[in-house]
Amino acid sequence: IRPYSALASTATSFPQTHEKIAQPQDTPWFVDNEFKASQADKWIDLYDPATNNLVTRVPQSTDAELRAAVDSAQKAFPAWRNTSLLARQQIMFKFVGLVRENWDRLAASITLEQGKTFADAKGDVLRGLQLLKGEVLEVAKDMETRSYKEPLGVTAAICPFNFPAMIPLWCIPIATVTGNTLILKPSERDPGAAMILAELAQKAGFPSGVISIIHGAHHTVDFLLDAPEIKAISFVGSNKAGEYIFTRGSANGKRVQANLGAKNHAAVLPDCNKNHFLNAVTGAAFGAAGQRCMALSTLVMVGETKEWLPELAERAKALHVNGGFEEGTDLGPVISPKSEQRIKSLISSAEEEGATVLLDGRNFKPEKYPNGNWVGPTIITNVKPHMKCYTEEIFGPVLVCLNVETLNDAIELINKNEYGNGTAIFTKSGATAETFRKNIEAGQVGINVPIPVPLPMFSFTGNKKSIAGGGANTFYGRPGINFYTQQKTVTAMWSSGDAISQKADVAMPTHS
Ligand code: NAD
Repeated sequence: IRPYSALASTATSFPQTHEKIAQPQDTPWFVDNEFKASQADKWIDLYDPATNNLVTRVPQSTDAELRAAVDSAQKAFPAWRNTSLLARQQIMFKFVGLVRENWDRLAASITLEQGKTFADAKGDVLRGLQLLKGEVLEVAKDMETRSYKEPLGVTAAICPFNFPAMIPLWCIPIATVTGNTLILKPSERDPGAAMILAELAQKAGFPSGVISIIHGAHHTVDFLLDAPEIKAISFVGSNKAGEYIFTRGSANGKRVQANLGAKNHAAVLPDCNKNHFLNAVTGAAFGAAGQRCMALSTLVMVGETKEWLPELAERAKALHVNGGFEEGTDLGPVISPKSEQRIKSLISSAEEEGATVLLDGRNFKPEKYPNGNWVGPTIITNVKPHMKCYTEEIFGPVLVCLNVETLNDAIELINKNEYGNGTAIFTKSGATAETFRKNIEAGQVGINVPIPVPLPMFSFTGNKKSIAGGGANTFYGRPGINFYTQQKTVTAMWSSGDAISQKADVAMPTHS
């Protein structure tokens, strides 16, 4: 198996190369604070997206292994919930420090398995901690009500491939600091970063069973959705998987938070700072090969801004597409040959439906990595809302552009789209920005900011089809603490003498 614990002593020396691994080793699973070889009879091959060389095999965890992880998490819960918040926080701070020390190693593992550039992988950032705050109020003479936030028990997280460190880090700190135990299923396409995080958690002093890592695809997900011990599920990924997970998990009485797909629009007004707009949109549409849930994949060009398209195409063309470890690379490959084919067929469908492929990345291949999954930056213009390239999430380095006449037309178009993760407007006018801010139906709005992902003191607030359950359970920030805790309110009266009445009071207590 891949030697996670041994590697820990050489924290920064993870090889930063796409060279073929002579003898790929299997990915272990993590239970009872130990890395173990899986007894699986089904394995998922994991290939470097830049070369399609085998990196590792990921097990489809066996039923016995899945059960063992739940039992371990269940067994660890009573002692962990009774560990003081301060003690839990100390372990978390140590963990945060170790993540920082191992930043390069985590990023290298992401570049190798997921394909994004090394610099981008380093930005797969840590999402932080908030304090657990109950409240106390004196509600009557000698009487007070206190509210407590208590942990739920065993929780689980099901993660996507595109942020192999950041999304586990949306879950691990908040779930565990609040006193829960957590079983994490990384994406079967790039579990390496999660394995390193497990190793760092072990080093930081998390007790056995507080964090476990299991592997696999649908079968593992179904197990997590049905295990009665699991009280809450955090999911990030596609609509297809997420809607299913939300429905089945909720039907089983679990809390489910589920962030889903996106089609993020930028509205461009003629009065904006043109140079800022061109650079911001080029970065946000093509960075990470468009495989970000907050990528700006759709441009709504208001009025004469459509004349700027050739300049936009020039900037996109200047981006360097290459292996993620290569110096100066702006974007790497897409995750798999299947994804490459799907993206290219969506570009072709746009052509067939009458749109124009202004910049075509379909035939791009970097010299050094001819066998990777490559799509160069692509810009499709004259797109109409009924076209497949507009109705589907492409999740690749493809920008689709629509033309409208006015700000109100732009708002109407964006609001009609069924996704609502993020949006951005480019304008110098405060009044225009304010009209947009008020009327737009999207959860995260950028004003001259292309990817408005909120920092941890806020929350990740997708909207419409981009979040399950109407957005009641959002990730991290204060709502994240609420998701992972059960509220308890206790009203107590401690008094002797006068306050204790001699006769039963049958009226509804008013605390007066
Ligand atoms: P995905 O849905 O294919 O996989 C996510 C997880 O679900 C994986 O762990 C996978 O094993 C599991 N899974 C996949 N199909 C399943 C099924 N049919 N039944 C049960 N489980 C299943 O998503 P992905 O391709 O890894 O990630 C890309 C998607 O995630 C995009 O749609 C992107 O927009 C979305 N995403 C959203 C956010 C957000 O915060 N809104 C963030 C990142 C990614």
